[in-house]
Amino acid sequence: KLRLAVLTSGGDSAGMNAVVRAIVKTAILKGCETYVVREGYEGLVRGNSEAVSVASPPREHNHHQRKESLLVEGDADSFVHNLRFGDGELLRDGTSDHPAGRTLKGRYIVRVGWDDVRGWFTSGGTLIGTARSVAFRTYEGRLTAAHNLIKEGIDAIAVCGGDGSLTGADVFRAEWPKLVAELASTSRITEEQHKAHAHLRIVGLVGSIDNDMSMTDLTIGAPTALHRICEAIDNIDSTASSHSRAFVLEVMGRHCGWLALLAGVSGGADFIFIPERPPEADPWEDEMCRNIQRHREIGKRKTIVIVAEGAHDKHLTPIRADYVKEVLSERLGLDTRVTTLGHTQRGGRPCAFDRILPTLQGVEAVDALLEATPDTPSYMIGIAENKITRVPLMEAVKMTNEVTQAIKDKDFDKAMSLRDPEFRE
Ligand code: ADP
Repeated sequence: KLRLAVLTSGGDSAGMNAVVRAIVKTAILKGCETYVVREGYEGLVRGNSEAVSVASPPREHNHHQRKESLLVEGDADSFVHNLRFGDGELLRDGTSDHPAGRTLKGRYIVRVGWDDVRGWFTSGGTLIGTARSVAFRTYEGRLTAAHNLIKEGIDAIAVCGGDGSLTGADVFRAEWPKLVAELASTSRITEEQHKAHAHLRIVGLVGSIDNDMSMTDLTIGAPTALHRICEAIDNIDSTASSHSRAFVLEVMGRHCGWLALLAGVSGGADFIFIPERPPEADPWEDEMCRNIQRHREIGKRKTIVIVAEGAHDKHLTPIRADYVKEVLSERLGLDTRVTTLGHTQRGGRPCAFDRILPTLQGVEAVDALLEATPDTPSYMIGIAENKITRVPLMEAVKMTNEVTQAIKDKDFDKAMSLRDPEFRE
């Protein structure tokens, strides 16, 4: 009977809860015992060693503990203390009551049952928490993570996160034999445990609003983020047309222009800046103004320009929304405003597709874990031409890094064709 754990890691995205729900439910149906790991890889490193129950330590104590082990990058002060989980017996005994009554302070690897994840696909973000873990980037951190997994008897993990998280998953899997050998040789695990955990089953699902992963058409959370941006453009449109104004919108996406491009297509933008395809003209200001002037001349009362977070010109000089605003105001005399959508793009209720995709991919992920052998590569679950796929995780991460490198090398045609093999100049 496989013991399977699921975790969410890196930047949050809509649909992560649907991933957890789908994996837990599928795994239960296929006879596995199911767990969640809270706070991403950080939870793996922390494990359950600080187990405490309802009578939880006073806040100061906790705070102190957190300070002591400053393991978390950035502001991941998101340790959810009041999440309640059942003990996984719910399906078997048929009760819908949570036998919870305990909080999860100090416990990061938690047994979950069917009821625990019921209805999860309607909420945004990730209920089991995510973090950026410094500790997991180190060998010692991963050694502790391996020890914690073995202590809980976990044989398989599903990781939902971006390219960083999936790289971490690949590193962990590749290093696993060495980690368990060290744990056995230092008597932290028994020989039986060593034998039973000689191989780690791991699978990746891509949760990212940026749609920046190669070898899959769509990442979990990207459709919802696109919806949010579309709604924002619609809202801005009213004012833009009424006052005949121009709006410059900065949207997220890191090195990837997908959100900006598709938001532009669905919102009827006049000009779009994306990292993979800087403006043809150099300098680009005249080209942009000419286009916008033409649209105005044929009667358009509003102007929308979209700037991707990672946009730059051909020399990799960043293009910022404020500068675009200046150009539009000064050269075309347009009343121009900048709107930075920021985190409103990230969160909120997942759209239908961000429930469907994680559900289908969650089923595939469990199958991939059940079928994994020491000889199969770790897989990333993707989608290609509307079919759920399995691709070697490392290949996808490698190809994703190649795109970023091509952009750095100013080889924009290569970047475009890596993003979209159908791309033609
Ligand atoms: P994302 O998954 O959204 O791209 P990050 O790049 O921040 O986000 O990665 C999330 C976490 O994955 C990191 O905080 C770290 O714990 C882990 N990670 C990323 N890269 C590696 C690596 N090369 N080795 C080990 N762990 C890694």
